[in-house]
Amino acid sequence: MKKLIIGNWKMNLGLKASLVLAKAVKGIKTNNEVGVCPSAFALAGVKQILSGSQVKLGAQNCFWEIAGAFTGEISAKSLKEIGCAFVILGHSEQRALGETCQRVNLKTKAVLAAGLTPVVCVGEDWAKYKSGKSRAFVQGQIKRALTGIKLNGKKLVIAYEPIWAIGSGKAMRAGEANQMQALIKAEAKKVLGQPKAEVLVLYGGSVEAKNAADFLRQDNIDGLLIGGASLKAQEFKKIANIK
Ligand code: PEP
Repeated sequence: MKKLIIGNWKMNLGLKASLVLAKAVKGIKTNNEVGVCPSAFALAGVKQILSGSQVKLGAQNCFWEIAGAFTGEISAKSLKEIGCAFVILGHSEQRALGETCQRVNLKTKAVLAAGLTPVVCVGEDWAKYKSGKSRAFVQGQIKRALTGIKLNGKKLVIAYEPIWAIGSGKAMRAGEANQMQALIKAEAKKVLGQPKAEVLVLYGGSVEAKNAADFLRQDNIDGLLIGGASLKAQEFKKIANIK
């Protein structure tokens, strides 16, 4: 089945390096849906390079207002104009800097209103995981992020990223991730009040070419959000091509 594979380049690359990587991945041809999320300053340049490519463009964050005196912020409307297809929201690295569920909620509404797909990140830290509180914590994050949202036929993507698995080289076991993802999908549909809503759930956290297939063969894992491995073109291509 077709999966969604998104690379999050984070703040790892300058403009030149972003364009080089974009050139290296633009030729990806796969049955999966693929996207990359460069830094905001590289979005327009990467979009030009990806013209005619199957690889879609995404942003790593945005603001919830459409326009106005909000120094340093970028609206979802502008991201749409640049050619983005989706926007990562509430990444744990943003949450660690003060991002709140309430703001993620406002941003999710703004992204949907702009005609883009939100990729809402959720996930527990090691202490919560070890004490068996992951489910309740993640359900709370979903409830707060999705309250008052109506999809009206639009698609929502949730990325389940256990914080302890991000960049640590210690991925969650695929079967365990699969169980969490089932719970996440059910919770999201419950909060949305739409049992038939199109909600995709990605897994993220130390995915590489060597373990990606384990995740992608799970029933409730609709794709992957990839950090470190998305910076290596060959590695990312291998993951994007997994059937
Ligand atoms: C991420 O930060 O979204 C992520 C999944 O990172 P990594 O793949 O490097 O663990």
